[in-house]
Amino acid sequence: MEELCMWCEETPVTETEDTVYWELPDGSRAIEIKEVPSRHCPSCSCTYQDHETIKGIENHLFIINTSILANTLSYKELMEQPKLLKKNYFDFT
Ligand SMILES: [Zn+2]
Repeated sequence: MEELCMWCEETPVTETEDTVYWELPDGSRAIEIKEVPSRHCPSCSCTYQDHETIKGIENHLFIINTSILANTLSYKELMEQPKLLKKNYFDFT
């Protein structure tokens, strides 16, 4: 099944990769994420990320230590960042 462009809703989109700028959940800064799976419409020349990809990035940024992130990284590098524990179980002080 072909996926139609979410803007013109007429043209099937192709898969591509794009660079996006993303504000961190705490609003401290924005990072550049490269090679993000994206859709491209040859008709209206728009490039965008589908809802699942956006949700995936948003959710991931909430569960990792964003303060150690580089200003520029790839989508793969971002999604490979280890999740933080909700509590610090190793703090016995
Ligand atoms: Zn389009």
